[in-house]
Amino acid sequence: MALEYLKKATLTSTSDAGETQAIVKGILDDIEVGREDKAMEYAAKFDRYDGNVLLTEEEIEAACAKVSDRLKADIQFSHDNVRRFAEAQLETVADFETEILPGFVAGQKAIPVDAAGCYVPGGRYSHIASAIMTVTTAKVAGCKNIAVCSPPRPGVGINPAIVYAAKLCGADQILAMGGVQGVAAMTFGLFGLPEANILVGPGNQFVAEAKRILYGRVGIDMFAGPTDSLILADKSADPEIAAVDLVGQAEHGYNSPVWLVTDDRALAETVMKRVPELIEELPETNRDNARAAWRDYAEVILCADREEMAATSDSYAPEHLTVQAEDLDWWLGRLACYGSLFLGEETTVAFGDKAAGTNHVLPTSGAARYTGGLSVHKYMKIVTWQRATRDGARPIAEATARISRLEGMEGHARTADIRLRKYFPDQSFE
Ligand code: NAD
Repeated sequence: MALEYLKKATLTSTSDAGETQAIVKGILDDIEVGREDKAMEYAAKFDRYDGNVLLTEEEIEAACAKVSDRLKADIQFSHDNVRRFAEAQLETVADFETEILPGFVAGQKAIPVDAAGCYVPGGRYSHIASAIMTVTTAKVAGCKNIAVCSPPRPGVGINPAIVYAAKLCGADQILAMGGVQGVAAMTFGLFGLPEANILVGPGNQFVAEAKRILYGRVGIDMFAGPTDSLILADKSADPEIAAVDLVGQAEHGYNSPVWLVTDDRALAETVMKRVPELIEELPETNRDNARAAWRDYAEVILCADREEMAATSDSYAPEHLTVQAEDLDWWLGRLACYGSLFLGEETTVAFGDKAAGTNHVLPTSGAARYTGGLSVHKYMKIVTWQRATRDGARPIAEATARISRLEGMEGHARTADIRLRKYFPDQSFE
């Protein structure tokens, strides 16, 4: 049976990519020349903010004092879980050395980058958890300087809970600056920040595009733009939970796709009926996002069996992938393209987004075909080294000279020759 689309998207995440690219490139070029003044102009334009940008210690303390004890405890809980997971990841980053040939040793080292620039989104919602995810992981990786940028609210500045979370997790500087201008500030070293070696963190299409354009000049974690989520559900799934989970993710933004892939027509039909009803029950402020996301971007796909479901899911390479189906171990073994996987009804994307410990900064728009999400590894350079005895160098030098000459690279060949002549003066080499 071919796939049957019970609901098909009319828009995709790439629908307005060209326009976004042109806007972002223009802003970056402007700020590179006009520096702080230009960045402030864009902050005034997009966020109606003209207050202080680099938060002082007093401003940070004042913001922290506004956070309730209950929220502080929850942020601490989430931070502890994210740190624990990142510390376990760090143990998988192994330095090693190996004897390639007798007398010739080569090794690998993982070195954290010095300066991390963490973007914490804050346009539509205050993404407190993004501060925890990015800063905690940078700290565990061993970055020497961690800067945070987040959009200020008009006339008010950054949400105090974001400031508290960033400070608790180890931020060295906090900038009230969002969007492309925030990304530019971290890259170009504006407002007293060191120039970032790596930019990390999620954001809207403008933030994600800014990071993409700057990649090369600075490292980035990945393309982490508007959220997307896919649920794989079979007849054992609870349709109400599947529907609530889809709505929960559609809430992210008008351009956040949610997809349901199932082999059960009755389940699909129940979910498709319930989702619009559940959207209308959301608070008014969140309804429009979810409505638009469901109307324009959502898809419901009927497959013949679980193998076809898995293949379909891999072709979407979703950021968040939930399995509400029997035989979870089969799915864990079979699925290959996703940012983060949520196995079974007992966990859900929001757990990972807020507090479970796995990172919520994840690849979107199909980037899960080639990368995973934010981890300590993203903050590290895996570099190599080598050293040799004279005897150990000999076979390598001989092969190097021959390969280089065949390539026409005489200068390279001579770097081998000079060593062979020096170390083995009584012998001749071809
Ligand atoms: P944001 O902080 O990413 O963006 C807000 C900024 O966008 C503003 O400061 C403003 O400068 C800029 N902006 C707004 N309109 C603009 C325009 N027309 N031109 C240029 N710049 C403009 O906050 P947001 O908008 O709420 O988006 C957050 C995004 O992060 C959502 O799309 C959400 O899905 C995504 N997200 C992704 C992940 C992930 O891991 N991939 C995780 C969490 C959130």
